[in-house]
Amino acid sequence: MQWHTLASNEVAKETNTNIATGLTTEEAKKRLKRFGYNELKEAKKQSALLLFLNQFKDFMVLVLLVATVISGLLGEYVDAVAIIVIVIMNGFLGFFQERRAEKSLEALKQLSAPQATVLRDGEWVKIPSQELVVGDIIKFSSGDRIGADVRLIDAKGLEIEESALTGESVPTAKSAAPLMNENAAIGDLHNMAFMGTLVTRGSGVGIVIATGMKTAMGQIANLLQEAETVMTPLQHRLEQLGKILIAVALLLTILVVAVGVIQGHGLYEMFLAGVSLAVAAIPEGLPAIVTIALALGVQRMIKKNAIVRKLPAVETLGCASVICSDKTGTMTENMMTVTHIWASGKSFSVSGTGLETSGQFYENGHPVDPRKDTVLHQLLTFGVLCNSSQLREKEKRRYIDGDPTEGALLVAAMKAGLTKERIENEFTVEQEFPFDSDRKMMTVIVKDKAGKRFIVTKGAPDVLLQVSKQIWWNGREQMMTTAWRKTVKDVIHQMASQALRTIAIAYRPLQAYERITSEKEAEKNLVFIGIQGMIDPPRPEVKKAVQQCKEAGIKTIMITGDHVLTAKAIAKQLGVLPPNGKIMDGPTLSRLSVDELEEVVDDIYVFARVSPEHKLKIVKALQRRGHIVSMTGDGVNDAPAIKAADIGVAMGRSGTDVAKEAASLVLLDDNFATIQAAIQEGRNIYENIRKFIRYLLASNVGEILVMLFAMLLALPLPLVPIQILWVNLVTDGLPAMALGIDRAEENVMKRPPRHPKEGVFARGLGWKIVSRGFAIGMVTLAAFMTAYERSGHELVYAQTVAFATLVMAQLIHVFDCRCERSIFDRNPLENIYLVGAVIISILLLLVVIYYPPLQGIFHTVPIASFDWLLIIGLAALPTFLFSGSLFTRK
Ligand code: ATP
Repeated sequence: MQWHTLASNEVAKETNTNIATGLTTEEAKKRLKRFGYNELKEAKKQSALLLFLNQFKDFMVLVLLVATVISGLLGEYVDAVAIIVIVIMNGFLGFFQERRAEKSLEALKQLSAPQATVLRDGEWVKIPSQELVVGDIIKFSSGDRIGADVRLIDAKGLEIEESALTGESVPTAKSAAPLMNENAAIGDLHNMAFMGTLVTRGSGVGIVIATGMKTAMGQIANLLQEAETVMTPLQHRLEQLGKILIAVALLLTILVVAVGVIQGHGLYEMFLAGVSLAVAAIPEGLPAIVTIALALGVQRMIKKNAIVRKLPAVETLGCASVICSDKTGTMTENMMTVTHIWASGKSFSVSGTGLETSGQFYENGHPVDPRKDTVLHQLLTFGVLCNSSQLREKEKRRYIDGDPTEGALLVAAMKAGLTKERIENEFTVEQEFPFDSDRKMMTVIVKDKAGKRFIVTKGAPDVLLQVSKQIWWNGREQMMTTAWRKTVKDVIHQMASQALRTIAIAYRPLQAYERITSEKEAEKNLVFIGIQGMIDPPRPEVKKAVQQCKEAGIKTIMITGDHVLTAKAIAKQLGVLPPNGKIMDGPTLSRLSVDELEEVVDDIYVFARVSPEHKLKIVKALQRRGHIVSMTGDGVNDAPAIKAADIGVAMGRSGTDVAKEAASLVLLDDNFATIQAAIQEGRNIYENIRKFIRYLLASNVGEILVMLFAMLLALPLPLVPIQILWVNLVTDGLPAMALGIDRAEENVMKRPPRHPKEGVFARGLGWKIVSRGFAIGMVTLAAFMTAYERSGHELVYAQTVAFATLVMAQLIHVFDCRCERSIFDRNPLENIYLVGAVIISILLLLVVIYYPPLQGIFHTVPIASFDWLLIIGLAALPTFLFSGSLFTRK
């Protein structure tokens, strides 16, 4: 189909849709069912079976399996089968852990799936892009990625970057007019927009003409490659550490075997024991548990409205030392209400809050009729004309479809009886140059019923003042004298100091023949009319969040396009600006080099009247000072800074696709407090990972040392292979995972951020692992020797006691791992998962010791009750010995 040669109505006819109302939901459902989802086919994932088999590709596990088969052939059936069963169960544990990790990552991807704004049943709604069907009418604006192939039916200053499709990185200007050339190449189809391409400027509306694999992208892409999973820095470090640990564990194991053989143990017996020990002591489960801890933490973050798009961000979050945050909508409510108006020399105040459209205008405290004041009337009217938002109602609740700043102007005008419909009846908008944060202006060209044309511009008052040559006063256009400029500046100051966000309005009459092709031509020689000042209350939760960040050694910096004084007032209210804190404005920032900024940046708490481009400079300067920087943003121009920041944060509601794609964290509620919550969670996740690293490695050290020392002391084997494997399976499984979801310690947000280069064993972790591990090994050995002597050299009995002591010592130690300082710092029953995991592990231990059919398999016999006292007493030692001040090292 030659869509580009057809007129809009023909396209609508061909796709069986209605340009004014879109498809009905019912029809869209039918089409979705018939033609399928709008998605590119993904490359096949690893099958479950393969994932399961992968668990056994570990070298030592293979050696163990081979050794077991040999022992089976030699007649040790029970041992062989038991070992194989345990190894398979271990495989299942690994499999489920990895599956779980994968599933949660998958769920994450779903959450950050792209959305499209589509006209259904006459209303613009947001739906997941994958539900788009042919015939849908979609709209998009700067920063959006196009969700399907569309034929444009409207384009306002629309430019699209199509490099994903054509390789051409310079954006193409688009329009809605039909083209003549039937054989135009894809790069020349100026009235079409394609799936996956990026709107860099302006806005547009189009009819979907192809979805999924039928789109141009689908035809070239064929398969969407699975995104590579990136390892987090900690995972990297653990991988390297894992290699060292494997080597150490193997060496020690060889040592155990060699000493054992020298001391007269059978070679075969020692070999099997050694391999089992190696399998148990090598922390092969560590990477998977780290992923699970990260993924579970990520899920907890979702509950707090933060979506992590890149897993490494979870760790970096815990290191954040500076949060740079937008003001409007992130620190404030983004619920604007016009409260003050200055119209060519006269000051008015306006009553009414929120989207309430009844309100009164006052001049010097006296009610006035806004319809009778020509200039006020004009100011309000122009505020509605130069405005792309709509006031809508759904289920009896009013809401603003569009920019809240513009919504406030609509509401103010309605208080004077000026509805958008009424004004649009009198004027037609011929052309529009949308708002952008760099220009800080928006302009429309309108024509009234009598055919008179005007340029109407609204924007930041100081900017508008610069491009205004005249001012409307006393019913006439007068020269903008220096005195007038000063008056206007005073008004701006006055309004901004009251924390008001200010919007000025200006116009210029146009001749009937005058053509305007760019915003530059439009936004000059204007006639200034007045200013509307609006409040945007701070979000109530932000003040506390800023305070908590401060306690956690994290500096908050406010970055805003708003006026310096508006920013200052709000920053003070929120506690962002300390008494000696400095504010820098955009023009000053422009003059400084990154080096110069680096010199002073530590003193600055607010950047005001800045453009998105400035953010990159701020990030760079802060990073050079050694900070780990989090930077928020929502627009196209914010993307470079978001990308450059250590933690790029995009707004989930107001953010563009580009910003979200660049970000590693997306805030579902656009709220500053959510960043703070995510940082807290990030710190907690890292601490949890430390907890189970400590637990697993200390346990492994204990297991190896008990065997090693027994061999050195010429004792019999204190544990048989199957017992070693059992310990590995049970204690590495549930308790370690329960540690991974532990709550944070109280003081997690009361200490400075972690250094990003901090090693795995920093802050005393290495000492804790070695000392506790050593103690666990020694008490197990002591239990073994005592039981061996007391039972008159009953080996199986002594082994059972050693086995029980080892398990109990680990299960007691697991509670100590929750605390950085001392086990007495926290209530041990707080983490019910951990308590449950420990109870289950103890029950499993009792079953293995007391259930006769299992006794044969696990080489156990019932333990006398007195010896349980010995076991528990000894098992508690490693933990409590170090909880006293004598041996406690921080
Ligand atoms: P941030 O979210 O970073 O705090 P901001 O919303 O304060 O940013 P911008 O949106 O860049 O900053 O707005 C800067 C200034 O531009 C505002 O102070 C206001 O005067 C003006 N402005 C904002 N929105 C519009 C708009 N839709 N049309 C015209 N001018 C606008």
